[in-house]
Amino acid sequence: MLGESRIQAAQRSAPYPLVARNGRAGTTRVRVGPVTIGGEEFVVAAGPCAVETEEQVRAAAQAVAQAGARILRGGAFKPRTSPYSFQGLGLEGLHLLSAAGRENGLPVVTEVLSAEDVALVARHADMLQVGARNMQNFPLLKALGTAGRPVLIKRGLCATLEELLLAAEYVVHYGNPDVVLCERGIRTFEGATRNTLDLNAVAWLKAATHLPVIVDPSHGTGLRHLIRPLSKASVAAGADGLIVEVHPCPALALSDGEQSLTPGDFGALMRDLGSSVPFEGRTLACPRPEAAGPRTKLCLQRLRERIDGLDEALVRLLVERARLAAAIGRTKRVSGLPIHAPDREDAVLGHVTSLAAGPFGPEEIARVFRTVMAETRRAEERE
Ligand code: PEP
Ligand code: MN
Repeated sequence: MLGESRIQAAQRSAPYPLVARNGRAGTTRVRVGPVTIGGEEFVVAAGPCAVETEEQVRAAAQAVAQAGARILRGGAFKPRTSPYSFQGLGLEGLHLLSAAGRENGLPVVTEVLSAEDVALVARHADMLQVGARNMQNFPLLKALGTAGRPVLIKRGLCATLEELLLAAEYVVHYGNPDVVLCERGIRTFEGATRNTLDLNAVAWLKAATHLPVIVDPSHGTGLRHLIRPLSKASVAAGADGLIVEVHPCPALALSDGEQSLTPGDFGALMRDLGSSVPFEGRTLACPRPEAAGPRTKLCLQRLRERIDGLDEALVRLLVERARLAAAIGRTKRVSGLPIHAPDREDAVLGHVTSLAAGPFGPEEIARVFRTVMAETRRAEERE
């Protein structure tokens, strides 16, 4: 519990003073095992809606790890609308999930349904998920304050953003600063999709709070074929990561099969993200490169797919750049200005070399761009 003075301060300013951005720059970094959410890396959590069998969760874990997911998801205690639906494997599910995570080097996130279960779930999971139906379970939120594990709070089906932030405020106020928010779609009049993924929420939350925000496009749409476009839209809206449902055989899933990706779909999603995440100045984990033996071939294939995706983006960018350079050339000709502008070329080189990072120093970047500019000039001359 906080001291009296901070409570008084809370009443004077925003209703959620601990999670409000309040002029703070950047995002709070939340560590989930070895993974950091809210830093430079765009973090993808993936796995089945529910843990069903050992074979199923191990296959899902291996597939998502290999494609570059950083956290394994999977429900052991399932909040189901009908009492006759699969309720999850409970404790056995926790054991299977954490074993599959360990085997593939992934920390795990799983839902905790009640305050009484917090200690048990915290023993087996690296991150505790508050489901949408439980976002305003205040005893649960209070118990998570002392769980000793980071918390993922999913937005309630009909919850306002202020209510979501107040739910987060509970957890932080009761002692746990490691909270990540999740937009997972809300109820609207629209029936074509299971929920309406509210991307307003992502951009709004990023401005209103310093906590990381991730998106669940699986529950947000309910439809497998919408997950790729909405994932890319989430990146553009400023999300810090995604949580995605992946099942080795969605047709056999005991819950949420229609919105679960196959391992192949998930690989394709990660390839897409690999070429859109860098546009937001962020990084995406490489597909697991270290697997040897029977998995080597698939690892190489995944890495090459990511390179192919980036190459496509690079070529499209170069073409677009050349089109703009040609427009500059036309403008100069119309105005009778000299075509060649060495000062401008120096300025371009100065700009791009200032961005050098990773394996490329300013020298290497300058060499690449001298070639780009020379080839662009040659293309213009040909025209
Ligand atoms: C889930 O993640 O499987 C889940 C039940 O999500 P939500 O609480 O967002 O419906
Ligand atoms: Mn689900």
